Amino acid sequence: MIDSVDKGVGKCAYPDRISVVIPCYNEQECLREVCARVACACAACTEDYEIIFVNDGSSDATWPLIKELCESNPHVIGINLSRNHGHQLALTAGLDFCRGGRVLIIDADLQDPPELLGDMMKLMDEGAEVVYGKRTSRRSESFFKRTTAYGFYRVLNYLSDVEIPTDTGDFRLMSRKALDALNSMPETYRYIRGMVAWLGFKQVPIKYSRMERVAGKSKYPLLSMLRFAANAVTSFSIRPLRLAVYLGLVTALFLLVAIAYVIVSYFEYQTVQGWSSLMVVVLFLSAVQLFSIGIIGEYLGRMFIEQKRRPLFIVSEIVANAKLEMDGKS
Ligand code: UDP
Ligand code: MG
Repeated sequence: MIDSVDKGVGKCAYPDRISVVIPCYNEQECLREVCARVACACAACTEDYEIIFVNDGSSDATWPLIKELCESNPHVIGINLSRNHGHQLALTAGLDFCRGGRVLIIDADLQDPPELLGDMMKLMDEGAEVVYGKRTSRRSESFFKRTTAYGFYRVLNYLSDVEIPTDTGDFRLMSRKALDALNSMPETYRYIRGMVAWLGFKQVPIKYSRMERVAGKSKYPLLSMLRFAANAVTSFSIRPLRLAVYLGLVTALFLLVAIAYVIVSYFEYQTVQGWSSLMVVVLFLSAVQLFSIGIIGEYLGRMFIEQKRRPLFIVSEIVANAKLEMDGKS
């Protein structure tokens, strides 16, 4: 019999529990295996764990299968989204729901090995708030995917103001402290690995090599990948908006050179009538326009950052003398 769940949703109702969040979109071929392997990895660490499958509007048998797993395994919980919301929002739904003290994020296709959980737990015991998987090799993926991913992570880091670890996906273990901070970020366009990096705290990598999908096809075709990359850049950087200012500067430089050239030409060579004035006006206006767009961009960038309504800072811990806390004196 499966029940609806409402105890402690979104809170740390079970501090010793490990929650595993798995977003699923048309993953019927992978579900049983991922459930078995994740359960095995969790059981090796603790008896208290929950595996949360989030069905992201699949059109295959993913949801009936999740319900079946739920019936047969008391650790399994299923969340069914109303339609396909995309990987990052499906993940957000699971993270918002889970109730454990630590949460593992993993894809349904087993490209990232759940067996690393034990080592990740150890790193967290040593004080890390986030342990993120860092891919040392992605041999199983196509040359195209590897090179574009390699370039993308580096360009993103150059553009972004926060240092986002390279070659890192969403596969990671997070403490409740880090998770609560992440859940407090209300923005709609979510690039979760970047948002986690933005949080700060002690974050450590764990290296692994990325496997092939156990079954099925990637749910990120080229177009979705490009959209994802564009979302990452625009979520974490307002530098593209500044481009107009730089272009304006370059045009202004041209303008100076052109004015010198025009003056020389006017006196030294025969020029077509009107050419000199036309050149100067065109260059001057281009520079002014690009500058103006750049200034608008700056303000737009500020509005963009403001409307995210992110917390202004995140406190890691507060210490006080116990004596002060007890009797109000230091
Ligand atoms: N996914 C999802 N919603 C989507 C697309 C993907 O929940 O709209 C899930 C998918 O089921 C998988 C994870 O997100 O568990 C990562 O997708 P995939 O493995 O296809 O991406 P890739 O590893 O190829 O980048
Ligand atoms: Mg995958």
